[in-house]
Amino acid sequence: MDIYSINLYVTEDCNLRCSYCFVKRKRTYLSLETGKQTIDYLLNQPNLEKPIRISFFGGEPLLRFELIKKLVLYAEKKASQFNKKVHFGIVTNGILVSDKILSFLKKHNFHLKLSIDGDKISHDMYRKTRNGSGTFIKIKKKLEKIKNYFPYPSVRATVMPETSKYLLENLEFFIKEGFRRIGLYPALEANWTKKYFSILEKQLNLAADLYIKLFKENQRILILPLQNTIGIIANKKPLICGAGKHFVGISPQGEIFPCHRFFAYSKSFPLGNVWKGITNKRKREGFLKLNPATVKVEKCKNCSLAKWGCFVGCYALNYEINKSLINPHENYCKFQHLIFPIAKRIIKEIHDSRRNNKKTIR
Ligand code: SF4
Ligand code: SF4
Repeated sequence: MDIYSINLYVTEDCNLRCSYCFVKRKRTYLSLETGKQTIDYLLNQPNLEKPIRISFFGGEPLLRFELIKKLVLYAEKKASQFNKKVHFGIVTNGILVSDKILSFLKKHNFHLKLSIDGDKISHDMYRKTRNGSGTFIKIKKKLEKIKNYFPYPSVRATVMPETSKYLLENLEFFIKEGFRRIGLYPALEANWTKKYFSILEKQLNLAADLYIKLFKENQRILILPLQNTIGIIANKKPLICGAGKHFVGISPQGEIFPCHRFFAYSKSFPLGNVWKGITNKRKREGFLKLNPATVKVEKCKNCSLAKWGCFVGCYALNYEINKSLINPHENYCKFQHLIFPIAKRIIKEIHDSRRNNKKTIR
């Protein structure tokens, strides 16, 4: 299987000091030569049919904007020589954006994903500067500028146990700010006690009510991971992580890892590098086989969610905590048992409302 999608670490360094971040914030920097080699490596995949996807990642990738610019121009030139398409993305805290940066990102059709945790209380609790002050005011100011170029940016919020009680408020904040693709991801490695899971459940139910209301009003807002779970149930198909398959993480030194998290956590499962390609073929084969048809997971055998398409979750997190790619993290299973019934309720209520509408029209 060809690799066509990468998260490329341009640095592990960051302008902020968010306390939950899994990246080690070292002063490591991707060189122009390694970046170009990464692009050549991708374009030289033997059976490449899909467009290549390069997501600039960090640390804070905009610390290396000048490098990103050079790599984008190089990738576009090379891709056109190969008669291929290239798509770009960036995951950023947004603090360093300027008109110059935004107009470049827009011109090159970037998918812009902002890391913001919500309104002031939640955002400032963890997303801090080096001297420990909250960064909400800074990003709020930048948001106005960002929306001049990207009217509907995506957002990825990290939900911590202590911020779970604000989940609905934060969702409303994001909608008001114009976001249409809103990720509200619990940091499952955190200490989710029974009390916090029950708060999260209540809040996700309120988010589901809002989702249903907006859907009935023909407003389409994607709320993740709810949307993913709805998709799994509706399509009767598990959502399988692409790490180590078509997707990999590239370190600032040009090493290939199954994804950005394997590199950030403990550099486990190195697969090769962008000069020699995948050299650890046995490990790569292992990732290619990771799916419910070929892997039977002991813990899932008697679980009611397996038949609905639930599959082991994040391999990197499983390996970090359980030293097994497929032994699901305990908090992941608890979260799945909480979110599946909510997603089922959404499907049922939307289905019922459509049926009633048809009856009324007749
Ligand atoms: S909830 Fe856990 S045990 Fe159940 S199917 Fe999902 S991963 Fe397997
Ligand atoms: S292993 Fe985890 S972090 Fe890596 S791509 Fe899969 S879900 Fe994402």
